[in-house]
Amino acid sequence: MTTADLVDLRRDLHRHPEPAWREFYTTARIVDELETRDLDALYVGSEVLSDDRVGVPDDEELDAWLTQAREAGARADILDRLDGGTTGAVAVAERGDGPTVALRVDIDGLPITESSADGHAPAASGFRSEHEGYMHACGHDAHATIGVGVLDAVLDSDFEGTIKVCFQPGEERIVGGEPMANSGRLDDVDYLLAVHVGLDHPSGEVVAGVDGFLAVSQFEAEFVGAPAHAGARPETGANAMQAAATAIQNLYAIPRHAAGATRVNVGVIEGGTATNIVPERVTIEGEVRGDTTELMEFMEQRARRVLSSAAELHDCEVDVATAGRAPSTRSDRGLAAVVGDVARATDGVTSILDSDHLGGSEDATYLMQHVQERGGKAAYVGVGTDHPGGHHTDTFDVDETSIGLGVDVLATAICELDTRRP
Ligand SMILES: [Zn+2]
Ligand SMILES: [Zn+2]
Repeated sequence: MTTADLVDLRRDLHRHPEPAWREFYTTARIVDELETRDLDALYVGSEVLSDDRVGVPDDEELDAWLTQAREAGARADILDRLDGGTTGAVAVAERGDGPTVALRVDIDGLPITESSADGHAPAASGFRSEHEGYMHACGHDAHATIGVGVLDAVLDSDFEGTIKVCFQPGEERIVGGEPMANSGRLDDVDYLLAVHVGLDHPSGEVVAGVDGFLAVSQFEAEFVGAPAHAGARPETGANAMQAAATAIQNLYAIPRHAAGATRVNVGVIEGGTATNIVPERVTIEGEVRGDTTELMEFMEQRARRVLSSAAELHDCEVDVATAGRAPSTRSDRGLAAVVGDVARATDGVTSILDSDHLGGSEDATYLMQHVQERGGKAAYVGVGTDHPGGHHTDTFDVDETSIGLGVDVLATAICELDTRRP
């Protein structure tokens, strides 16, 4: 693909942002593009995911997004392969006896209404989101595009080995990484690179191996009590709202940990019907995080105890479900060094950081950990891009010059790995 083609692809994906397990147009567009390449395999949908997915929307919701994708021109034969919201794809090309190198890119959008201000380039240039209320506000449209660009560049090179490009759904809800890691597609990977644009790094800056991923676990807890007249017979009720309130207060009271930073947040509460009814049902959604997977698991275990104890205190039941989850991991320094060396020799790269602290969570860590546990190496690469608004805001945008630059750095690094084995 030429640079102009890459920009066109990015803008097309930008116009059609889709959240977790609803990336129908996006997957179909990518697969349609890749089918014209000389590949050894192109796995799609349920072929790239284990079947233990969480956060899958109901059939009605899936149908609505599927219809929207069809109407936007997505190919019906590809959509048929994404049954039940099994989105995503993995492209494989075997080029000789060298190592198996994978690139992971994420492809999902966010539930944010995109700015229509003149100063916002996608609005001014006519590629603003056509899915009102949804937006590529994190740059995953650029990531998917970089995935296609890197595949092309490696196919054009004299790389000897196997290249796999993994187009992963559902990163923002941290639900896509685990089933893709467990799909078997990464079992033979020697080197894995993942990439994110921006992250407050300007255009021209490359971070060779990002660290500081917080492990995270999200939960949904439904408290169920018994309704009663709040004036006439309050003592016969079991107040689910009191149970939820007790839980929230005490979640924030989980002790700090000497081994490192932890986080806890309750972000959603829903329930109750009227002031004169003891509330029967209340749901809260929250998350815990930690510097390491162990710290996150400490928080998770304490949080579960708080939730069940709060329910018991108020004669309620609680049903706790895990939503998204991701471990912590580190970029392998040897692999990051290859990326750094390549970046130093790449036109347009003006600044290189060996490492940086993400300070957030990312479910690429599932894929990285999967590869690392089998003796492979993994690194998470940051490709700077000037973004007017911050990530996850309605004025986020990508400096499109960073797409070509990301392709150059990643494809060259992958090609280096057939001779240089960190
Ligand atoms: Zn994001
Ligand atoms: Zn992102």
